[in-house]
Amino acid sequence: MTDRYCVFGNPVAHSRSPAIHARFAAQCHQDLSYEAILAPLDGFAAAVGDFVAGGGKGANVTLPFKEEAFALCIRRSARAEQARAVNTLAFVGNEIIGDNTDGAGLVRDIEVNLGFALAGKRALLLGAGGAGRGVIAPLLACRPQSLFIANRSASKAEALARQFADLAAVDAGDFAKTAGRQFDAVINATSASLAGEALLLPTGIFAAGSLAYDMMYGKGETPFLALARAQGAAQLADGLGMLVEQAAEAFLIWRGVRPDGAPVLAALREQLQA
Ligand code: NDP
Repeated sequence: MTDRYCVFGNPVAHSRSPAIHARFAAQCHQDLSYEAILAPLDGFAAAVGDFVAGGGKGANVTLPFKEEAFALCIRRSARAEQARAVNTLAFVGNEIIGDNTDGAGLVRDIEVNLGFALAGKRALLLGAGGAGRGVIAPLLACRPQSLFIANRSASKAEALARQFADLAAVDAGDFAKTAGRQFDAVINATSASLAGEALLLPTGIFAAGSLAYDMMYGKGETPFLALARAQGAAQLADGLGMLVEQAAEAFLIWRGVRPDGAPVLAALREQLQA
């Protein structure tokens, strides 16, 4: 029988996950189905229960349910615990097992797809929301020389720096506090680009040869990437690769085989620009 998977979200109609997993399944010769399910804002747990009762084997979770998914799990991976959010559920026997593949997806996109090694680099993470928190431990695992977390509300960035203080010395503050420093990798995990807004970043923070990465993706250049280009960043990337690679990591958890993200990313990119 075909194994069932899905993504829960609200809204979810825009999700590219069904198309990504259909391509992964074909590439890896796996018999599975993957659908998008709109869960009511007050009915996430019930929607998961219905899906499991219907034979569901696993699910992705997107906005706004990642924290609720975390609470629903009987067991969680270390990276889910660090992120305090779950984007991948596996239904095994009577257990709901939670993981978070967002950070692994980001790191793989940066290091493998973009060929940018983070080890020894000065990294700047912009944003201290759910996406930012989820990628800190995987970023630190790449052994950057330093990590600075900057956020519009400085107190949220400082709280994150304290949370991860046992992994590495992490500096934090508002955007203005980055003035006078230079960074080799600047990763935008704010939702400012979603609203079409540019960030108020000091000039001169992009080091020679630096990478500017926006987790947001869409048709055309985001305001953050336009600003980074104007400030001399050498390499620009949006978050489409992160989306594909977090999906590949989820596929690995469910099916025991890692799909090759690169051809799927290329196909998606072509669709997006069409
Ligand atoms: P949250 O709502 O949890 O956090 C939003 C963050 O953005 C906060 O740090 C907030 O600052 C900041 N922010 C919002 N508006 C502005 C602004 N105008 N100027 C400066 N800072 C601003 O969102 P998420 O963390 O869940 O998502 C952030 C982004 O990451 C989204 O664009 C999302 O699409 C993207 N994302 C991409 C993924 C991928 O696979 N490519 C996966 C997950 C997320 P403050 O604390 O001061 O309010």
